[in-house]
Amino acid sequence: MARKPSAAPDERSPHPTHERSGGRARPRAAGKERKIEPWSGLLDEGRADERLVREAREGSSRAQLVDAPSALHPEVLTALARLGLERLYSHQAQAVQAATEGPTIVTTGTASGKSMCFNLPTLHILCEQSRARALYLYPTKALAQDQARALNAFGLTKRVRPAIYDGDTPRESRADIRRNANVVLTNPDMLHVGILPNHAAWAELFSNLAVVVVDEAHVYRGVFGSHVAGVLRRLRRIAATYGTYPIFLLTSATIANPVELAERLTGLEDVALIDTDGSPAPGRRIAMWNPPLTDAALGTRRSALGEAAELLARLVREGARAICFMKSRKGVELLSRLVKQDLEASGRAELAELIEPYRAGYTPQQRRELEGRLTRGELRAVITTDALELGIDIGELDAAVVVTFPGTVASLRQMWGRAGRRGRGLAVYVAGEDALDQFFCRHPDEFLDRPVEAAILDHESPLIFAAHLLCAAHEGPLNRDDAEFFGPRLQAQAELLVSAGRLRARAARGADGGEAIGRETYVLRDPGSYPAAEVSLRSASPDSFAIVEVSSGELLGQTEAARAHSTVHDGAIYLHQGRSYEVRDLDLRHRRALVAPFDGDWYTQPKRETMTAIERLLDRRDTLGVTLSFGEVSVIETVLAYQRRRLSDHAQIDLVALDLPETSFSTQALWFELDPGQLTDEPAAGGVSVAAGGPAADGELVANGGPVANGGLESLLGALHATEHAQIAVLPLIAMCDRWDIGGLSTNLHPQTGRPTIFVYDGHPGGVGITRTAFARFEELCEDAHRLIAGCGCSDGCPSCVQSPKCGNLNEPLSKSGARLLLERMLAATARPVVETPL
Ligand SMILES: [Zn+2]
Ligand SMILES: [Zn+2]
Repeated sequence: MARKPSAAPDERSPHPTHERSGGRARPRAAGKERKIEPWSGLLDEGRADERLVREAREGSSRAQLVDAPSALHPEVLTALARLGLERLYSHQAQAVQAATEGPTIVTTGTASGKSMCFNLPTLHILCEQSRARALYLYPTKALAQDQARALNAFGLTKRVRPAIYDGDTPRESRADIRRNANVVLTNPDMLHVGILPNHAAWAELFSNLAVVVVDEAHVYRGVFGSHVAGVLRRLRRIAATYGTYPIFLLTSATIANPVELAERLTGLEDVALIDTDGSPAPGRRIAMWNPPLTDAALGTRRSALGEAAELLARLVREGARAICFMKSRKGVELLSRLVKQDLEASGRAELAELIEPYRAGYTPQQRRELEGRLTRGELRAVITTDALELGIDIGELDAAVVVTFPGTVASLRQMWGRAGRRGRGLAVYVAGEDALDQFFCRHPDEFLDRPVEAAILDHESPLIFAAHLLCAAHEGPLNRDDAEFFGPRLQAQAELLVSAGRLRARAARGADGGEAIGRETYVLRDPGSYPAAEVSLRSASPDSFAIVEVSSGELLGQTEAARAHSTVHDGAIYLHQGRSYEVRDLDLRHRRALVAPFDGDWYTQPKRETMTAIERLLDRRDTLGVTLSFGEVSVIETVLAYQRRRLSDHAQIDLVALDLPETSFSTQALWFELDPGQLTDEPAAGGVSVAAGGPAADGELVANGGPVANGGLESLLGALHATEHAQIAVLPLIAMCDRWDIGGLSTNLHPQTGRPTIFVYDGHPGGVGITRTAFARFEELCEDAHRLIAGCGCSDGCPSCVQSPKCGNLNEPLSKSGARLLLERMLAATARPVVETPL
């Protein structure tokens, strides 16, 4: 059945048009029929001193309202009327229609009433069929609680009985929920480890499962997304064994590939897309703000934190209500303090009281109280981490300030979407010194027009796929019919698991009682095992280390074994949900790291030795004058030491040696082999390589070959190394990931290719599709990397271009000019027509 996205009822473009000031921001003629906003003066000053690098305006739009579809069950219509919602936004009505036809994903803007898009179809079904059940999946517990409240607000208490089922649900109420709740709100982790393996206890749910809602689906990307794809396939399979084929309704923030994401997550085809937002949008002014340079040659700038504090205090003084997003919890606390100090110093101590940091771990009641204080104007500003960006409902605000690039344009737009009150708002982005931040400041037009990224996940990641096949085999013997859910690779993977001693093939009985040829089923070799308990959805490999808080014994989380040595070695400063911890002891034997809360003013960077070995070539093409390959590699590394650096100025405090064994993991990588002619110097003999990054938060210089032979080698390696850093810095522009998810290695002579080679690899065991995307879009990657370097005004490389915060070896050697030349030669190679030389 072919399904088209529903027709758009209005002409509003999904990408707002931008009205720009000129190339250089210039002050405007004052008083020229211009409304005075709380931010007018601030923006004038920013234009004058060029901290305001670009402005744009998003036009306002009116609500597109339509009558609630009359096909909805009368009780639902009555409930809507009671709530004063006889008319719906157009996308909500479209969603009701689409949901009757097949799987649907809705990707309208922040605060556009997306949850109505799945609540209405669900309520309709629950009213029509008294036995029907719905399952709602949320990435966080807090969001599930908000949604339960929203469902109750319809007042359909006889028809709709929502209940939250997660790790906090008291044991004594669980049986009752399994029997009686007809909307079960949970998270993928609980579904994976608690519900699916015990499906018999949930027979009532699975036998009547009509709707599955996946809210905030864009969160399910990378490792987590690849796992959730496995969980949802298992869910569909179990439902089918109970005779149900639920409809899937998804929502997502705006991303480049919503339909692809929905199809990869669910394994379903023909997902309908609803992306025409019918909710009203305020006119919004967008400001890109770059802190002033303090040293042009070194490329250093005033800190984004200090700049943001000044902006925020100013906005508050001028009467605006604002929200500010910071990356770390420490940053949130620091910024709150700075803003309060600024207000006190300017004689507005009464305002300092109205600034509140928004901390993790608030209960829904506390969040509602905060929301109320903001809406009533009792608070002027909240400062929060981006971890809490999801689902905060804090009413209407004048301004949203985002401090440093949050990692994706999709996320930035979601944060900016908080700004808009009385029809207008200000959305500010304060750039940090990181390469990506400064890249945006130098290409502001492109930044504002930049399409949001694609959410990448790899549902075929071999490690993750195998893990979920084992879980599925535990939930019921696998047979070839299950290819409907797990795809054509099912049989081959199951055979691999048989060889690995995890599954056992069992001949099925034919109709006559004899063995049916080719109809074998696969069961667990160890029937008493519980594979789901071995698989954490948040890490790529079941092989993991526990992170344990030393005084309370609380399990904070897990880290992949492949990352453990570099992220939680003794003395490491470890960031968890915006909070810092110091590792007291990495216990290799018991696979756990004991950590304690940390309040010091330094961070750590591991120094390590890395090698890559090509295991399997999957794809290859010639482009930009290089041979570009994609395949499986193993990354072998030893963490040798770590460096302590001061937070304030990144200065090195000391280098502490570590004694850790070598580790290795397999992953996906792209690599390209260079022709010596493209390089600035002839490659010297003896393999020398530099690696930037890896599975964790760092990078490393490795001299794993002979002694450095000549001066040219240093600059050759520097060029390769800087090229690799630049490519890793801009890779998040094409694949929704963090630079910390990617590793790299450059060598003047790789033993397998025999040539100078640059590797860029997925930092997670097995790989999650990041470098596959980069392989496909390699030309773009090189163009962006070139512009990153060419546009930076520093003399020899700085944190805003080729230096990497992950590179553990003091970013050496790095040659900015060499990398620039190399990339220029590569990009020129496309322009040149290929001439065949006759022999
Ligand atoms: Zn490096
Ligand atoms: Zn630079």
